[in-house]
Formats: sequence, C-alpha cells, structure tokens
Amino acid sequence: MTRIHAKANLAKRYSLEGALDTTLDMASVVGGRVMNYLVPPACPLCRAPLHFYKGQTTPSLCGGCWRDIDFITAPLCYRTGVPLPYETSGAYETSEAYETNKHDTAKHTISLPALLYPPPYHRARAALYYGGAAAQLVRAFKFYDHPEIAPLLAQWMHRAGQDFWQQTPDETSHEPPNKKVWLIPVPLHRRRFLWRRYNQAAELCRALSVYEDIPILFDALVRVQPTQRQVGLSRSQRLRNLGRAFQVRPSMVAALQGARVILIDDVITTGTTIEACTKILKRAGVAQVDVLAAARVVMPETYTRGK
Ligand SMILES: [Zn+2]
Repeated sequence: MTRIHAKANLAKRYSLEGALDTTLDMASVVGGRVMNYLVPPACPLCRAPLHFYKGQTTPSLCGGCWRDIDFITAPLCYRTGVPLPYETSGAYETSEAYETNKHDTAKHTISLPALLYPPPYHRARAALYYGGAAAQLVRAFKFYDHPEIAPLLAQWMHRAGQDFWQQTPDETSHEPPNKKVWLIPVPLHRRRFLWRRYNQAAELCRALSVYEDIPILFDALVRVQPTQRQVGLSRSQRLRNLGRAFQVRPSMVAALQGARVILIDDVITTGTTIEACTKILKRAGVAQVDVLAAARVVMPETYTRGK
C-alpha cells in the first residue's frame, strides 16, 4: 500500500502538474511557517498568544476562552435541535399531533412545540449556545471582519451536524430518496454584503467543505430586499416580511429538483429566517431541507445545563 502510494507520488513528482503541486505544497508550508513567525497565532477573542501543535491548521481559542464556550449537547429535539432538559422515551404521546408525527416520534424525541407546530425544515442543529464567549466570537466573525474564525466554527458545526453527512436519506424522512445534496448559505442583501465584505454563511460553507465533499450553491438563494426591522412585529408578520425577502435564482431551479439541501447560517435566533428560506427552497422543488448553524439563541427556561 505504502509502496503504491510512494510510486504514485514519484510519478506525480515527475509530471509537470506534480512539480507545480509539490512547489505549491512546499510554498504553503513555508508560507504558513513564515506567517506564524511574523504574526504569531493568537486567540481570536482575547488575543492571547497560542501555541500551535505540529500540523495544526485550524485556529483555536486559548484555554480561558474555551472554558467560556457552551456547546449544545444531547438530548435534543430531533426536529428543531433545541436542547431538552432530559431524555424522554418515545416523546409525547398524548396530543393529536402525535398521530401525524408518529413516524418520527417512534424513534426520536420531539419537543412539544415541534410536535404542535412542525417546522418546514426536516432537522436543525447548532453547535453553540448563543451567549457569553460564543456570542462574542460569532459577533467578531459577523460584524468585525474576522473571516479567519470560520474554520473554528465550522469544526464545531461539522460535529453538531454529524447526522447530516450520511449521503443516504434519513430513515425517518418523509421524502423520496434523492441523490443530490447541496450546501446553501443564507444570503446577505447586496447592500450589507458591500458593507461587510463577505457573507459569513458562505464562509462557513467554504470551511465546512474541508470536511465533506458536498458542493456549495453560493447563489441559489438571493435576498431581494433588505430585511425590514423585525422588532415589534408578531411572528406571522415577521414570516410574511421575510417570505418576500428571499428568492430562488431561476437558473438554479433545475439543480434543486428533488435535492436535499443543508442550509447554513451563523445564528438561529427566532427561526423565522431559516423557515422562510426553507419554504422558498421547497416551493422550488427541494425535497428536504436540513439547517446547520454555528450558534442558536435558546430561551432561558430551557437553558438549564452547564457544560
Ligand atoms: Zn482567549
């Protein structure tokens, strides 16, 4: 095995393409070392110097900031991904909603809100509780021009979305099996894009593609109007507002037919944005939408567990 590998490497080294690859590889290793020497890696939150171990490429946090980050862990609502205070066996079986959702409830714990008001997406997951150091990190990434935080968040998101990476459709999926899977970022409005220089959700897609070979459709979803102020509006008003804000690019409709989409966002707050995006995608022919975010706002009453 090793010998075959070595031979392949040798063949590669003697081709023009191989020579270029090797040069680029060496340049990136040397470049990385020079950069580390010139700009020593620092904690993105408190700027404390970090010591990278050999071969480490993903940035990290210092020990102090790391301890302040709260990860969302099981038990979770299978549909919304909201952490549950305790594991329930077979979920809630009393309501009428159980009948319509029993396919899911037989195997998974579903929170009561998700049973009563099933979300349009199939599953949502987030890596972190939005608060404290995690909120600081996400804000630095979102508003203060720190795209280098994306690989750090993506590493945690990849773990939070571990169920999404199997290419076979989920056994509880109500949709027919399909072959196409796409990563799609929640879009920013062009005006905001100019101001922020990058779409944070698109950066997260790029960073996630290091782990999974899933193609990204960067501009399948477009934001046609900037979001109006949502403060003071009811939930249905907010949804109506957002429903008009997104569109599927007509040239992408064919690619989306029967596909499974993993929708990527930085923070889930009320959930209205991901719901609006999901509805638009499904209207365009997408079979199943799963949502993956770096962090989510969790209501204090459910936020009972520490790390
Ligand atoms: Zn720190």
